[in-house]
Amino acid sequence: MPEFYQYLTEAQEKELADIAKKIVAPGKGILAADESTGTIGKRFSNIGVENVEENRRAYRQLLFTSAHEGQNISEHISGVILYHETFFQKADDGEDFVSKLTKLGVVPGIKVDKGVVPLAGTDDECTTQGLDGLAERCAEYKKAGAGFAKWRCVLKIKPYAPSHQAMLENANVLARYAMICQQNGLVPIVEPEVLPDGEHDLETAMKVTEQVLSYTYKALMDHHVYLEGTLLKPNMVTAGQSCSKKYTSEEIAKATVTALQRTVPAAVPGVTFLSGGQSEENASVNLSAINKYPGKKPWALTFSYGRALQTSVLKAWAGKKENIPKAQDELLVRAHANGMAALGQYEGGSESAAGSDSNFVAQHAY
Ligand code: 13P
Repeated sequence: MPEFYQYLTEAQEKELADIAKKIVAPGKGILAADESTGTIGKRFSNIGVENVEENRRAYRQLLFTSAHEGQNISEHISGVILYHETFFQKADDGEDFVSKLTKLGVVPGIKVDKGVVPLAGTDDECTTQGLDGLAERCAEYKKAGAGFAKWRCVLKIKPYAPSHQAMLENANVLARYAMICQQNGLVPIVEPEVLPDGEHDLETAMKVTEQVLSYTYKALMDHHVYLEGTLLKPNMVTAGQSCSKKYTSEEIAKATVTALQRTVPAAVPGVTFLSGGQSEENASVNLSAINKYPGKKPWALTFSYGRALQTSVLKAWAGKKENIPKAQDELLVRAHANGMAALGQYEGGSESAAGSDSNFVAQHAY
């Protein structure tokens, strides 16, 4: 008989499960604002804003303090993912962003991976680094007020990809990350993103997503990860960006929910989709269709969007102080749309500055 060792106490398990449950409360989801310095620089260059620390701080302050007629971000946002720099920054009034978010009832999260690196012997596939010193970093973030963490892995669809090597390696590194987070009191968001680059159809995207998720959960089980204290952040199942056939939201919803049913254990409390280059409006409409889809859905199905919550905000702001209220309204509009979508009640048609603009970025890095 093999021996198993309990690595979390009952109290630790309860704390993790409670945080995860709070994040996927009905009608709520996550704002991903953890762009690395390089990635936020690309967003800023689109609107002519210089990528310096003060502008990054001012922009994140705009996001977190958005309020209108007595409503603030906590209405539909339960968690915010931060980048290391932002995690320790302060608002104009001297209060830490982490403290401001916590007071609003929004759980602060932290991106802990250190980006993708090539996997030798593959067709340009990659893995994600950042395990060295991770336990110490998690302990520090927990002490400073974080409740959850994010680690993004990237899989590609090509004639010989994703390879067994890439799926195995990425699943394993996600499992190692997840258990290190849990040992330090952080809920791990497990993110194996299948990129939308390519001409593949919806059926191919579905099969690949199923394979990637099945490798992922096999590894999480092999590492004894406590599933009730995790969240999954997958891609929605959509056809490749360059696929000539277009699919309806109902088709996307069916493919997405079916892939999840086949691979994601019912013990997982929630699935928080990334937006993956969809326009703001498509990301909301598709999430609503997923929640409306009549089938077994034992997990909450909600959002953890970066681009699909921020494109209109950035456009409206354009780096100008006088535009801040207008930009903040844009965030609240998209958060409301996605909150409704998480309940399967978004009918489309929100007015946003960049609502139907494509957010696709080839070989997207975060
Ligand atoms: P997008 O919603 O822009 O795809 O990004 C979400 C995210 O956090 C990717 O890691």
